[in-house]
Amino acid sequence: MTFRLANLEGRAALVAADPDGVDRWYDLERVSDGRLPADPMAAIRQADELHVVTRGLDTASPDGRFDQALAAGSVGPPVPRPTNCFAVGLNYRTHAEEAGLDVPDTPLVFTKFPGCLAGPRDEVQLCADRVDYEVELVVVIGSGGRSIPAGRAWEHLIGLTVGQDVSDRTLQFAATPPHFDLGKSRDTYGPIGPVLVSTDSFRDPDDLALTCDINGERRQDDRTSNLVFGVPALVEYLSGILTLLPGDLIFTGTPAGVGVGRGVGRGQPLVAGDEIVSAVEGIGTLVNRCVSGPT
Ligand code: ZN
Repeated sequence: MTFRLANLEGRAALVAADPDGVDRWYDLERVSDGRLPADPMAAIRQADELHVVTRGLDTASPDGRFDQALAAGSVGPPVPRPTNCFAVGLNYRTHAEEAGLDVPDTPLVFTKFPGCLAGPRDEVQLCADRVDYEVELVVVIGSGGRSIPAGRAWEHLIGLTVGQDVSDRTLQFAATPPHFDLGKSRDTYGPIGPVLVSTDSFRDPDDLALTCDINGERRQDDRTSNLVFGVPALVEYLSGILTLLPGDLIFTGTPAGVGVGRGVGRGQPLVAGDEIVSAVEGIGTLVNRCVSGPT
């Protein structure tokens, strides 16, 4: 049984469609009669139980409509406090080309510090004049572990979500060599959500459409089957170096179409008032409005 896990005001919740197709949310601790935890990070360690509880939602009473919770700003990042949050650069050939850089032979990995994570409708606080958008598929580690072979990678994941790897290009390239970590970790620069979707929900989890629209204009449009290093390869690579922990995130990289890449991006930097809409097939949509942040 597939499940969708969300974060409602800091509490874990399951999301399921009612017979009319309207998504409703169910507080996890309540609907499990206290067997499962309210903390989203603890809930991620109970994947088997999440499947079981979801099976019983048909007869449970919901807490509310999920679209209304989103509109009210009550939905936080489905994984609010991962131990590790990895991100991968130049992982689509088309994006490497627009940046004027070679496709790496080894995954180019950097950190998005977990403090940058934000909810699916949160505002992005622009703190500079060369801030960019990058829609990405985000992998959520389930059981995790060390030295996971690519062929078994999906078994060690709990699900997938949508991510925006908001990037301050000036800060990213302010040092030599560049410090990607800081430029991509300002407060609010990591919206994820709207839900964590269990891996068994996808017919082919290695081939999902992803798009990014700015103010209604399509800027990015690709499929995860075009990743240079796909999800299994990334899990094998990272787990060959360190233990992947439940709830760890991997931002898998962005396709072509970013605004102010190092080279000849065809878009424009984000400005206050812009609306970033990021979507991945089978998961959902992030809608993040840009506002002026502290400088
Ligand atoms: Zn990125």
